[in-house]
Amino acid sequence: MLELAKIPFPEVKRLVESTRALTILPVGVVEEHGAHLPLGMDSFAAEVYAASAAPHLEEAGYEVVVAPTINYGVARAAIDFPGTLSLEPATLCSMVAEIGKSLARHGLKRLVILNGHRDLHHMKALDDAKNLLVQDKTAQVLCVGFVSDPDITAACYREGVRQFYRSPRPDREGHGGESETSVALHSFPESVKKEVIGELDPNFDYDVEAFRNETKDYGSISDGRGYFGWPQAATAETGKQLVAVRGRNIADVILKAWGALKA
Ligand SMILES: [Zn+2]
Repeated sequence: MLELAKIPFPEVKRLVESTRALTILPVGVVEEHGAHLPLGMDSFAAEVYAASAAPHLEEAGYEVVVAPTINYGVARAAIDFPGTLSLEPATLCSMVAEIGKSLARHGLKRLVILNGHRDLHHMKALDDAKNLLVQDKTAQVLCVGFVSDPDITAACYREGVRQFYRSPRPDREGHGGESETSVALHSFPESVKKEVIGELDPNFDYDVEAFRNETKDYGSISDGRGYFGWPQAATAETGKQLVAVRGRNIADVILKAWGALKA
């Protein structure tokens, strides 16, 4: 796996000439994730899943190049928490479409948008960017991770992970809960306030419909706590399993859409 920002231009030329290049663009956001997790949680997670998916894609014949992460997105539900930043959906859409166009200009025409942030407007903006690029025949584009199509999201994040949960209410685990806390403890433990986790009581009894449909803000449906589920159930070991399985899942979704490259 190569990182676009860390290689010189002749390497990009070589990549394009190989005709095997597949670019992953991780997309996240700056958004509160409870008192224990960093605001960049979803950006970091998207990068972690990109790195976990890459070896499986390479096994299938692709050369994976990861573009610099888009660290800003649309985050309306948590906007009242200090530090949460939000773009207008059109801004995000333009940014992604323009990056896709620039990549394609140089011949990097397979683009996977790997999104780590669940927000309906944010996901729609990514779909819109994809549609712009596909309509123009600029590039082959696929949205994975959290996407508007719930079946794709489930195939990426939910398939094969249920057994790792220790929470008594896995159906209530969400934003800032067991899963995200586990991934953070495994992948970027230095950014987790571990001493705070012991004080975080379960938040199972929240308005699930309002959470899913974003009809109420995160502050009011979590009593100001900013997390959903039970962070105390999280372990680094669970995070390791989640990252491995979801990386495989994401690669499978991509390979199902585009197939393996012939040797
Ligand atoms: Zn998140």
